[in-house]
Amino acid sequence: MREIHMVDLAAQYRRLKPEIDEAVFSVMESAAYVKGPEIKIFEEELAAYTGSEYVISCGNGTDALQIAYMSLGLKPGDEVITTAFTFVATVETMVLLGLRPVFADIDEHTFNISPEEIRKKISPATKAIVPVHLFGQCADMDEILDIAGRYNLHVIEDAAQAAGADYIFRNGKRCKAGTMGIIGTTSFFPSKNLACCGDGGALFTGNPGLADKIRSIANHGMKERYHYDFIGVNSRLDTLQAAILRVKLRHLDGFNDARRRVAGAYDRAFSGCRDIKIPVRAEYSSHIFHQYTIRVPAAKRDRLRDFLKQNNIPTMVYYPVPIHRQKAYATPLTDKVSLPVTEKICGEVLSLPICPETDNEQIEYITNKVLEFLENN
Ligand SMILES: *Cc1c(COP(=O)(O)O)cnc(C)c1O
Repeated sequence: MREIHMVDLAAQYRRLKPEIDEAVFSVMESAAYVKGPEIKIFEEELAAYTGSEYVISCGNGTDALQIAYMSLGLKPGDEVITTAFTFVATVETMVLLGLRPVFADIDEHTFNISPEEIRKKISPATKAIVPVHLFGQCADMDEILDIAGRYNLHVIEDAAQAAGADYIFRNGKRCKAGTMGIIGTTSFFPSKNLACCGDGGALFTGNPGLADKIRSIANHGMKERYHYDFIGVNSRLDTLQAAILRVKLRHLDGFNDARRRVAGAYDRAFSGCRDIKIPVRAEYSSHIFHQYTIRVPAAKRDRLRDFLKQNNIPTMVYYPVPIHRQKAYATPLTDKVSLPVTEKICGEVLSLPICPETDNEQIEYITNKVLEFLENN
């Protein structure tokens, strides 16, 4: 059996090697390493794929979030409602800009921010809502956009984990993750579903004025050369990464289908096990399984993890400690925050290896080991 990785990046490279090597070497020959023609072409191809009017690439998914908050003119003290069950970048960028993250609890089934909990956290200082489409499945955007409309709030979607996922509105309309809010952001970090071979990110918007402002902020706030209308940052996607992403974008739907096949095989193997809650699929979103995350009794989770590790099966806990309980984010305000579902879920989640290359032999081995432990413990 092939060695098991959470994500087998080397196997993917071997599979796509002729296409990727050709793309890389052609950029090397062109010497257009920064702002080369591949950047614009990739942005246009990603716009066509997602249906977003404008796509602006940048250095990484964290920058994309920061640039999104900056471009909307959010000011120190403004409150932004988001989830504490996310990768830290969603919140770190707010705090760096002086914004106040206000955490709403999650839905225990989808792990995504709960619209009812958002409603409870709205105050006169609330300016925006940042849903994170966690593990590859969209948050409840009908409800979130409705709340945002009522209270005149911006919605910024953190779609770093949901490249290619479809949201299905109650009226039947389908939209790609990241294209429903005023801005959507994504990351092309190597482990993401649409990934480059280094760092990369992008922003989506349908608003032309905002698209111009985002492009400018990502380039030092420059309007005309050496004339600055905004305070900006330096955040660029490398031409090499854009060339690689053009190759991988062509395979994204295939990758996501392959992940769904792996997820289906896991589901079937675990269906009879009382200790395992398999990932819940919301009716309003396709699931692209950035992670395949099960819930097991908290008392067994870490021992199961150790047992799997001894058997050469890597697993991850996304996320062991919610943001409001992290040392760096602790304030007298966060001390009082109680997010019972988030806090409970952090003790139960376990993400298993999943990528387009996970094969049947690996799945069988992994599921047998998981079941073996739970039957005996
Ligand atoms: C990966 C990720 C990011 C950050 O992306 P980087 O490219 O690593 O900066 C932001 N939010 C979420 C939810 C992520 O998973």
